[in-house]
Parts: sequence; C-alpha cells; structure tokens
Amino acid sequence: MHIFLAALAHETNSFSPIPTTLRAFEEGILYRPGGAEEQRVAAHDFPGYGFLLEVAREHGDRVTAGLCAWAQPGGPVTRQVYEALRDELLAQLAAAGPFDAVVLVLHGAMIAHGFPDCEGDLLARVRDLVGPGVPVGALLDLHATLTPRMTESGAVLIACKEYPHTDYLARTRELHAILARMAGGTCSPAMVMHKVPMLSMFGTAEGPMRALLDQVQECEAEPGMLSVSLIHGFPWSDTAQTGAAVLVVFDTGDGPGAAGRAAALAAQLAQAFFALRALGSKTMLPVHDAVTACLAAYSGGPVVLADGSDNPGGGAACDSTFVLRELIDRGVERAALGMLWDPLAVQLAIDAGVGAELALRIGGKVGPASGAPVDVLATVTAVRRDARQHGLAAKFSEALGDAVAIRTGGIDIVLNTRRQQVFSPECFTELGIDVTARRLLVVKSSRHFRACFDPIASATFFCDAPGSLNSDLAQLPYVHLRRPIWPLDALEDTALTGSPEASHA
Ligand SMILES: [Zn+2]
Repeated sequence: MHIFLAALAHETNSFSPIPTTLRAFEEGILYRPGGAEEQRVAAHDFPGYGFLLEVAREHGDRVTAGLCAWAQPGGPVTRQVYEALRDELLAQLAAAGPFDAVVLVLHGAMIAHGFPDCEGDLLARVRDLVGPGVPVGALLDLHATLTPRMTESGAVLIACKEYPHTDYLARTRELHAILARMAGGTCSPAMVMHKVPMLSMFGTAEGPMRALLDQVQECEAEPGMLSVSLIHGFPWSDTAQTGAAVLVVFDTGDGPGAAGRAAALAAQLAQAFFALRALGSKTMLPVHDAVTACLAAYSGGPVVLADGSDNPGGGAACDSTFVLRELIDRGVERAALGMLWDPLAVQLAIDAGVGAELALRIGGKVGPASGAPVDVLATVTAVRRDARQHGLAAKFSEALGDAVAIRTGGIDIVLNTRRQQVFSPECFTELGIDVTARRLLVVKSSRHFRACFDPIASATFFCDAPGSLNSDLAQLPYVHLRRPIWPLDALEDTALTGSPEASHA
C-alpha cells in the first residue's frame, strides 16, 4: 500500500494554566518533511507514528510521512497554531496523493480556541479531501473525547486499551490490518458508538477493569467484530462530548445482522463499563496523611508517592510545592522528589555548578495551583543536559532537557526545563540519585510511572494535593460539560439508556 502518515496530538486540559503554543510543539515533537534529522528521529520516537513506520516496513508498504506534531498536555491550543498545523497536514495530503490509505495518529482530546473537537474537525477535512473511497484510520488515546463528528468522518478509530498505555504497537498492527483489508476490498467497516456518562480514570493492570478488558478482547474474536475500544475519556476536558464511550468497529460485509450485533455488543459493554465507574476513584490521601502512610509503610525498599494533581502528562504545570513543603516541614530523610519544572532555578543551579551551595527559590511559579515557591539552601549534586528517560515502550525515550539535582536536608530534588511526567527511575538515576537507597520517592505522575516503578517499589500511595489535575472534579469550573454525568451527579446503573449512534465507513 501507499500510505500517508501524519500525527497531530494533544491532550488538552481545559483548566491548565499552561497555554499550548507553537513553542509547546517545538519543545515536544514537531517533525516536518524535509526538516532536520533531529526532527525525523523525534517523530520516530512518537509511539503510533514510529510503530506505523515499523509495521508498514514489515509489510513492504510505501509510506509518505507527513507532519508529526505532539505537545506536552496543557491548556487549549491557540487557534492560529491549530489551524496552521492542520492546514499544513492537509496540504501535504493533497500534494502527495493519491494514497491507498491514510493513517493519523491523534490523541482524541485536543481542544483549540474556537475548536472544542479538533479531531472531528481534522477527520472531516481529511475525508473531504480524499473522498469517500479511501480508507482512513486513526489511532487514539483511551483518554479521548469521542464525538459524532469523529465517527461520522468514516475513519476507522482504534484507541489504546491499556492504562498505562503499553499497547500501541498491538493497536497499530490491528489498524494497519483493517486498512489493508479495506484497500484490498475484502472488508467494509462501520462503527457504533455508545456514550457512557461518567468521568473517571481507570488503571487496567488488575481487578475488574482487567476482567472487562479481557472480555472486550474475546468480543473481537466474534464474527464480523473488527475492533472494540473502551474510551475512558478525559475528565479535565470541558466540552459537551466529554465522558466515556464504547466504540465497536464491525464489518458490514458480515451479513445483515452485523450492525445489530455490533449495537447490542456496544450497549452491553457500555453497561458493564458504567457499572465499574466507582472503581476509578483511587484511594487518595491528603498530603499530610499520604506522607505519614508512606513513612509507616517503609520496610527496606523505596515507597512511591504519586503527586498526580501536578502531573504534566495531564496538563498540570509540574511545579507545585505542596508535597515538597510537607517533606521539608517534617524533616523527612532519604527522600527524592521529581521532577519540578523550573527553568529559572535550573539555570541558576547550572551557573553555580556541581558542588555549589546556594539559596534557591524553587517551584510555585506558574499559578495558584502550584502553591507557594519554596526557599531552600541547596547543594547542587548533579547537572545533566543530555539525560533521557524511557517512556512506556522500552524503545522510546524522552529528553529531560537541562536537568539538575539539588539536595536540601535529607531530600534530593530533580529540577528540569522540559516539562514532563516521571515515567522511569532514570529521572533520578541519570542525576546520580540511587533510588533503591531512598525511603520515599515522590513522582509527578498519575499512573504511567507504575510500569517502571512497581518493580522497585515496596508500596505505592496516591495523594490529592491541590493542582490543575486534582481528582475532586466537583471543584472544577465546568461550563460546557453535558449533565447529568457521574460522579458530579448521582447516577444509578439504570441511568444508562439510549441507543448507540452508528456511522458507516
Ligand atoms: Zn492517555
């Protein structure tokens, strides 16, 4: 096949104080065909885009690689930047065709000023450009906001199934296989979407969510059912379509009963998914209690405390000081905390150099959700400008930017200039901090850290510090969110009614 591949991905937190600008994409991933080698490598490092290149190579496909743009989650994308990137992608698609298939790597929860549904807008324009006959497919994050405009575009949509998102390669293979069958004329997919009115965050590693996911994968083996995605939704997205959904992709060529079976399956899975809604609420402890629990749980291996409220992977600023303040006030020893996004403090520490002792004001700079800055007397213990951490897929890694480690009292703190969540202990070890020798490791991440930290953690706790990713959703100033929705409204299991919305590819 001759495939056009492009990516335009952002998880937008409507409540984030960080505006998403062109600089955010430049600091993230912004590959443009004909651009520098460095950009090309960065694009390969983006799961989905990189995996599609790999899968296409295995099948001997020819790929025209278009724009690959990704920015760290933050507030809405500026209108001008969204329109410019979108139009750049569309121009590449128009210039280099015709194609046997178009593959887009999206997030699904991208909002720009004036565009509450960027993916719906983009997919509709791609469809207008290529016409009804060309197979179009898109990979989504399960924290997407699924909209009728997206499904009506006729693009085959497949979201990752796992959180942590460890399954992009498998999903890429599935999408590629469906598009290849479409291009070969042996399959004619359509989709059924069933919205689920809940806002929640579910890990998929264990428990009833795991069981439901196993059931979903069994359903995909049923005749005519090509793919089933459970869309968890992104609670910090303030749009009329925000919430969870079940999406079934089926083959209309599998007889006249296929649409009915897909609709029944979507309804049944939506009910089962909705019944798990309370599961998503992790036990979140107030900061003081969380630190107490961590210290009590220590039994020789590091205890991990997740400060998910300040997770930049969900759009938070990543410079909040609530947990740090608590550690300092209590004189906690043998603790490490990472990573605080503080370019100014990093610059001062780099200028001072390794071994220098200096008075440093750290964190608390972006806005009220960051808390107050903390003034410490610190020793600079490490400076790195080339450190990287591995992400969810072992082959991909992310640069930390300029990074320093400082020590104040018994606490090692990693500060960096490239806002990102902690995925791997490398955020500490690359700066010379021996994580296994620490009692307490504080990570600014909600759940992705678990893939790499669980093997070394003797226990893991979650705290509900203030922040733009705070899990107390009732406190968020939603304007556009459609009500009723759980947990803002008390909904019984029987509240899930209505028929799925169908669309044809
Ligand atoms: Zn996600």
